[in-house]
Amino acid sequence: MIHEDMICPFCGCLCDDLVIETEGTEVVRVDNACTLGSHKLMNAGKHRLKAPIMRDSGRWRDATYEEAIEYTAGILLDADRPLLYGWSSTQGEAQGAGVSMAELLGGVIDSTTSVCHGPSILAIQEVGHPGCTLGQVKNRADLIVYWGCNPTEAHPRHMSRYTTYADGYFLENAFRDRKLIIVDVRKTETGSIADEFIQVKPGGDYAVLSALRAIVRGREDVVPPTVAGVTKEQLLRVAALCKEAKFGALFFGVGLTMSPGKYKNVRNAIELVDELNRYTKFTLTPLRGHYNVYGSNEVFTWMTGYPYAVDFSRQIAFYNPGETTAVDILARKECDAALIVASDPGAHFPKKCLEHLTDIPTVLIDPMHTMTTPLVRCQIPTAVTGMDAAGTAYRMDGVPIHVKKFLDLGYPSDTEIITKIFEKVTEVRHP
Ligand code: SF4
Repeated sequence: MIHEDMICPFCGCLCDDLVIETEGTEVVRVDNACTLGSHKLMNAGKHRLKAPIMRDSGRWRDATYEEAIEYTAGILLDADRPLLYGWSSTQGEAQGAGVSMAELLGGVIDSTTSVCHGPSILAIQEVGHPGCTLGQVKNRADLIVYWGCNPTEAHPRHMSRYTTYADGYFLENAFRDRKLIIVDVRKTETGSIADEFIQVKPGGDYAVLSALRAIVRGREDVVPPTVAGVTKEQLLRVAALCKEAKFGALFFGVGLTMSPGKYKNVRNAIELVDELNRYTKFTLTPLRGHYNVYGSNEVFTWMTGYPYAVDFSRQIAFYNPGETTAVDILARKECDAALIVASDPGAHFPKKCLEHLTDIPTVLIDPMHTMTTPLVRCQIPTAVTGMDAAGTAYRMDGVPIHVKKFLDLGYPSDTEIITKIFEKVTEVRHP
């Protein structure tokens, strides 16, 4: 059977033009997706856990969904301050149920934002977000800047769908005329196709952004001959390219958010874009990784007022990144149970955090065995959104997209499992 206009549930591009062929319950062909999306869709049906698993005297055993749900509700109810973490590779509907449950439990809910684009959000909260949709970029932008990211490998269709290789409705010869500037600490594959490649010394992004702001403002006299390894000559050239563009779009990744300067780097980038808007139209968009990490920020914000790291232990929503973020809470051993949903902290968190996760009762909701599995006491397999579950996801530019289902493998969705746990918790807290 052929399924057209399917959505890829891998990265924040949420490509919506996939053609998927299935035979029975197997995916046999995926057209239009990049290697990352194609690999996920071709393999996500093959390596699933068959049923929930629980630890019993140090060994794994199969469990029923009812038993696993009962156990999860029990550990969350017994905890003084449970941590509900992850939420980036699941549906908006599951994220909403998670927020309601965290509030009822007096726990902390955090998404993977806190270890990727959290600093971008802090900067946006301070100085605003001069953003636009990817459609606007595709159809209007004649200058693209990628700063601290490598879309060729991390978002492989970003350039072909929205920027360098895409047609533009309002551009006569987009493919040939659109200029590309890459800023990075090393020359990646993306850097090798740039009109201007700016190689910044590690930790030098803030200084380079400041120099560009000064030049755009007309104060090139304060810029020294080199800034963080970049010559003044190149900075003058790049500033001129930006000012001459009719529509510029700056995309940035964790190379900017997680390098020295962190949220101040992003704030400086936003202020450079602000400065450029005195001359032309310029926008800025974070390149978001997990396909619905943006959705977690949207859902958390419209339900609590805060985009991630929301702590309900004071009976009201409280937000203080650095204090209420998952890594900090785990490192300080400030939670006494954890529910991990659709993320893999076992692959990314510091050792100290993982040690605490293994010391407390932790449940993982994830379709497959991951690096987090060995750390938990129970794992509940669910359907993969975009494959055997439908739901809402937000693209990296904040556009909500209905992610469709094209298979039925008999697994419950994340939303169904979280809702059932929430109902059990509610029965006890509000009988
Ligand atoms: Fe999927 Fe991202 Fe590749 Fe598009 S660019 S096909 S969303 S992994």
